Amino acid sequence: MPFDFDTASFGQDYWQAREKFLSACHLLPGRLTTLLHPLHSQVQPLATDLFWLGDDKAENVLVIISATHGVEGFCGSAAQVNWLRHEVLPDKVAVLFIHALNPFGFAHLRRVNEDNIDLNRNFIDFNQVPVNEGYQALADVLLPSAWDESSVTDCKQALAEFRDKHGQRKTEEAVSGGQYQYPGGLFYGGMEPSWSRRNIELLMQDYQLTDRKKVAVVDIHSGLGPYGYGEIICDHLPDTTGAKRARRWFGDSVTEPALGTSTSVPKSGLLDYAWQQALGDKVCYVTLEFGTYALEEMFEVLREENYVWQQEGTSTLLSNSINRVQQRMRGYFYPDKSDWKEMVLFRSSQVLAQALRGLQEQDGISD
Ligand SMILES: [Zn+2]
Repeated sequence: MPFDFDTASFGQDYWQAREKFLSACHLLPGRLTTLLHPLHSQVQPLATDLFWLGDDKAENVLVIISATHGVEGFCGSAAQVNWLRHEVLPDKVAVLFIHALNPFGFAHLRRVNEDNIDLNRNFIDFNQVPVNEGYQALADVLLPSAWDESSVTDCKQALAEFRDKHGQRKTEEAVSGGQYQYPGGLFYGGMEPSWSRRNIELLMQDYQLTDRKKVAVVDIHSGLGPYGYGEIICDHLPDTTGAKRARRWFGDSVTEPALGTSTSVPKSGLLDYAWQQALGDKVCYVTLEFGTYALEEMFEVLREENYVWQQEGTSTLLSNSINRVQQRMRGYFYPDKSDWKEMVLFRSSQVLAQALRGLQEQDGISD
C-alpha cells in the first residue's frame, strides 16, 4: 500500500500551524495547556501549547518538541499534527506534545527568540559561561558594521583562512558551537535562562517526568544535512545508557557528534543536556534533523538575517529588508515543496513509531 502523505499537516506560517495543531488536539481526549508568551496579544497570539495524551500515570512517556529553533518549526509542527491525525496511542505509553517551544522565532521566521537567543545554546550553567575563542576571532566578520559586497567577501575570506588553519569541523564549531559574549551575534546562548528554558524546567515537574520509568524525547529541527533526509542525532555521551538505547530503538542510522559521525558538531548549552541532567539514564533524547540546502548557504542567510534584525528589528513596523530576510529564512529552513514534505512525514512517522516501540519493550539496558 502506498504511504498516504497528509501534506496538509503543514501550516504555512506559525498561526496556521498552531490552528492545525489545536484542531487536531480538540478531537482527542487529551489535556491541552497553553503557555502565553510575554509578547502575546489578541491580534498576534504567541504561545507554546502543550498536549498530554494518555494515562497521567503512564510509566513511559514520549515527548515530541517542535520549533526549538523558531523558523524550523514547520516540519516539527507538521510531524505532530500528522501523528495526532493518523496514529493511535499504544498501551502503557503517554505522549506529551510541545508545540512551538520558541513561538516568537516561529512567528517571525527567526531561528532565535525575542532576545536573539539561540535556545539550543541556552541550557548552560550561567555560573560557568564558556568562552568560544574561535567565534571571538571571527566575530567582526560574522556580524559586520555595514552590509555590502566587501563585507560578504571579507567574511568568506576569513572563514576560508580559518578553515585552512583549523579544518572544517573546527570552523563549524567556532561559528555555530555557541557563544555568550556577543548578544547581537550568531548562535548566542544568552546571559540567563530564557522564557522557553524556564518552561521546559517547569513542565518536567508539572508532568512528573523525573518519576517515569523511561522517557523518549524527539526534538525536530531542519537545516542541516542532505535535502529531505531526517538524521537522528544522538548527543548522549558514547556508550552511555541513552546512546545505547538510541541505537537499539532507532537503528544504525543514529549519528553521534561526539564520534564525528554526524553532520552536527559538538555544541554548548543544548536543550538535550537539561533533559539528561534532570532525568539521567531514564531519558533517551534524539534530535531529528531534516536537511534542506548547503551549510555555506545557511551561514550566509543567517548572517544577513542577523545583521538586518540587529539594525532594524526594534522598530514596530517591519521594514522591507526584514521582509526580505524573513522570506530567505523561510525558504532555507522550510522547502515548501511536496517532495520535501513527504520525506518529512515518512521519516517522522517512522522515528516516532520506533520511539513508541522502544518505550514499550523491556530492553534490559538499565532496568
Ligand atoms: Zn535547529
